[in-house]
Order: sequence, then C-alpha cells, then structure tokens
Amino acid sequence: MVGDLVRPVIFWFRRDLRLAENPALTAAVATGRPVLPVYILDDDGDGHPHGAASLWWLDKSLRTLDADLRQCGGRLILRRGNSKAELLRLIEQTRSAHVFMNRRFEPEAFARDADLAHTLKAVGVECHGFNASLLAKPGTVLSGAGKPYRVFTPFMKALLQTLPERPATPAPDTVIVPAGPDSDDIDAWALHPSSPDWSQGFDWTPGEAGATAVLSVFIKNALGDYAVGRDIPGRRSTSRLSPHLHFGEISPRSLVWAVRASASQGHVAPAQADKFIAEIVWREFSAHLLHQFPFMSERAFRPEFDAMPWRRDPEGLTAWKSGMTGYPLVDAGMRELWATGWMHNRVRMVVASFLVKHLFIDWREGEAWFWDTLVDADLASNVQNWQWVAGSGADAAPYFRIFNPVTQGEKFDPAGHYVRRWIPELRALPDRWLHAPWTAPGTVLSEAGVKLGYTYPRPIVDHSQARARALEALKVVSSRSRDGEQNGVFMREGIVRP
Ligand SMILES: Cc1cc2nc3c(=O)[nH]c(=O)nc-3n(C[C@H](O)[C@H](O)[C@H](O)COP(=O)(O)OP(=O)(O)OC[C@H]3O[C@@H](n4cnc5c(N)ncnc54)[C@H](O)[C@@H]3O)c2cc1C
Repeated sequence: MVGDLVRPVIFWFRRDLRLAENPALTAAVATGRPVLPVYILDDDGDGHPHGAASLWWLDKSLRTLDADLRQCGGRLILRRGNSKAELLRLIEQTRSAHVFMNRRFEPEAFARDADLAHTLKAVGVECHGFNASLLAKPGTVLSGAGKPYRVFTPFMKALLQTLPERPATPAPDTVIVPAGPDSDDIDAWALHPSSPDWSQGFDWTPGEAGATAVLSVFIKNALGDYAVGRDIPGRRSTSRLSPHLHFGEISPRSLVWAVRASASQGHVAPAQADKFIAEIVWREFSAHLLHQFPFMSERAFRPEFDAMPWRRDPEGLTAWKSGMTGYPLVDAGMRELWATGWMHNRVRMVVASFLVKHLFIDWREGEAWFWDTLVDADLASNVQNWQWVAGSGADAAPYFRIFNPVTQGEKFDPAGHYVRRWIPELRALPDRWLHAPWTAPGTVLSEAGVKLGYTYPRPIVDHSQARARALEALKVVSSRSRDGEQNGVFMREGIVRP
C-alpha cells in the first residue's frame, strides 16, 4: 500500500509549456503523488512535423520550462520518439497508473490521443484529459440547430457566453519529481539551426516569463490604440503573442482576463479590449473549424474551389519566398518573415493574396512555406487564414476582393517605415513612389540609387492583368458551384466528415 502511494503520476507536456493556468498540471499535483513531467518530441506523431522556425522556438521554450520546474524543485524529462511507445516505457519504469495531459484538438492529434487512451486503459493506466489551449473545447460551441458555426460573428457571440469568470490558477509551489527516469540531452536534439544559423535576427524570449512580459508591455503600450494600430505594420502595435500562444506558454483565458481587467480599471476603452478579444476568438474559430471539418487542412472548405486551375510557377514561387516580386510591401513582408520568423497580420493577408490571386499559385504552397518559416506556425490558424484569403474558407473574403499591394502599402505604410526597414535598397526613394518604384521618373530613381532590374526587381506580374486572370478563373469556378448546387455534387453538408 505504501509503495502504491509513492507511485508517480505522469504529466505529459504538449502545447501547454507553462506552469500557471495549466489545468492538467494542477490536477496532477493535486493527487499528492510525485509528478513526472515529460515532453516527447514525436517528429511524425500527428502527421505535421514541426517546421524549422518552430523547432528553433521549441528548443528555447523547453530549456526555459526545465529551468522553471527546477525553481519548484522539479525537472523536465525529455524523450524523442513515438509518443505512445515512450509513454509506455515510462509507465513500465515508474509503475505509474495515471497520465495527465491537456488535449490537442487538431484532427490527427485528437485521433492519436483517443488511440493512446484506449491502449493505456488496456494496461490499467487512466488518461486524464483537460483543455488548456482554447477558450472552449471544440464541439461545445454549436448553433441552435446543434451544428458547427461557419460564420464568425455568431460563433464569437456564442463562445463568449461560455467563458467562465474565474480566478487564474497559479503555478504549483513545488513539483516533486521521482528520482530515476533519465532525460535526453536537449543539445543532442540539435534543434537550433547551424551551418548556416539563419536565426540571427530572431528577437524573441520563448517561455512563460517571456510571454507574461510581452503581455504586460502590450497592455501598457499598445492595447489602448489596438483597433487602429493593429493594421500598421511599421509600428509595434500588436501583441506578438502568437508563438507564445501556439506553444501554450500563456493561456488564452489569461489574455482575456488581463485585457478585460485593464478595461474595467479604466486604463483602456472597453472597445479596444473587445477588439483584441475578437482576434483571440479568430484563433478559436480556426481551431474549432479544423476540428469539425478535418479535411480542410488538405482541401478547400468550399469544395468548388478544389477545381481551381492553379498555375505551376516555380520561378514566381521562388521570387515570392525570397521577397523579390518587385512589389515593395509584399517583398518587405516576405523578408520580415525570413529574418524574424514572424510577419505582421496585415502584410500576411497581402502576401497571401499576392500568391493566390496575382501569381495564381495554390494556397497550399504558401501554407507550407509559412509552416516552415513562422515561429507561430499553427495548423488551424494557418490553414483557415490561407483559405480565408483564397476565398475558399469559412466566412472567407470574397474571391473577387483582390488586395492591391500598392494601395495597401500607401494606406497602411504611408510614411514607408515598414518597407524601408526591410528593403534597404529602396530606402532613399521618396514616399510618393516607394510602393510602386516602377512608376517613378528615371531621375528620381537614379537619385535614390535604384536601378530597376538590377538593385531591385521590376514587378514580376502586372497588377491589372493578374487581377483579370484571377477573376476569369473565379467565374468558371463559381459557375461550377452554381451547377453543383443545382445537382448536389458540390453540396457541402454531405462531405463534412469524409
Ligand atoms: C495567410 C495567413 C496565415 C496565418 N498563419 C498563422 C499561423 O500559422 N499561426 C498564427 O498564430 N496565426 C496565423 N495567422 C493569423 C495572424 O496573422 C497572426 O496570429 C498574428 O499576426 C499574430 O501576431 P500578434 O500575436 O501580434 O497578433 P495580435 O493582433 O496581437 O492578436 C492577438 C492574437 O490573436 C490571434 N489572432 C490574431 N489574428 C488572427 C487571425 N487572423 N487568425 C487566427 N488568430 C488570430 C493570435 O493568436 C494572436 O496572437 C495567419 C494569417 C494569415 C493572413
């Protein structure tokens, strides 16, 4: 009996790399037993291995988590390999009968968790699942007819009604980890890039303390003007919390509570806090949609868009990836992405629209590049936003709305701070021509040291022609959609869960 009491419980860290506001960890510690905190790097576990920038982040986040656990008297056990096999090994080593974890809701990960719970049950081990990554569990926010929402605003209304107003759960004071199970050496995992190290410009502080600090700075400096400021890429006016949220270093509930508290104490107008919460709910909408419509990471949410006759254009794709399209706002965004692992949301929309509408390249190519290069790469948010821009997603931008990269630049970067930062070769060009250098007179270009086609590319595609080509394709697709709706072929309801 005494032996049974000291059998530890396993706490499996996943997308919840934090100690505070972590319901599964709180429950594991509350058992009163020793807790074995483990992170398993399962390269192929859910069909979507981490991209390179995400591995950069994970490396630092895990080191910080280990240091945080050591502050509470614990440590982090690292394992690399198949999650199920590694957990079974740990269970055998420790004779543990309980695994605590916060659940993941992406379709493959969700299915894997269900399979794992069955396997563990068969060997007498109980799995305890919680939700730490979302405001509400997918499947719990449904329309009056009991169906998933496909439109954002009613989804947001319904979701916000489910939000509990409860105090945050602090990090545990102590985590007693049993002696014994050894950990992999994180240095041996070599997650940080080498030869070359392309991460020199990554200016982030992964980890729970980093996330909390970022939130405080955002609330102090930018929340008060968020509704307008969030669209200006040349200013630090959004939170930059997305990678922290993705890795679970901070909980979305903590964010909602924090900005509401700031509003109720009169530091910011409630409308600013509400706007920020609406963005958190977009993240939620994406996660719920992907959970309910698992096919959307591979195929168009609106099936008629699967018939889009995408172009194969390796040269255009390379120009886009390397920030050499000749459209300054697009190029600035792609260079920011490469240099920092992040890109401003307004510019993400413009570069994504440029790829799918101007170059007419399949959104999945862009989604894959973002997946590899973003530190906040997140399956649900990435897929849903790409489909939103492409017009094929739920509550998407209409296909005929084609972002004009020149007017977007003039509107959201009028003084050129953003473009000049990322495209030094255009720095001396006056504002008037900065977003369309090919329209500048020869003398202006030469005074600014710009030689089009040499120091900076000419546009790889003409805006008006590209726009006309995209609209033509849309006409074909939407006429198929009308036919489909008549004969039932393209009706969505039947393929919700293929
Ligand atoms: C083509 C495209 C791909 C994207 N891919 C990703 C991705 O892989 N991972 C990711 O986290 N976001 C993605 N986004 C959404 C958005 O661009 C980022 O979440 C945002 O830029 C992060 O910066 P922030 O933390 O400063 O945002 P803030 O403006 O401070 O917003 C706060 C939080 O709200 C959430 N959020 C904001 N906008 C959106 C949105 N449109 N969709 C979903 N959640 C949102 C994020 O979690 C963000 O951290 C993508 C957007 C586009 C257009």
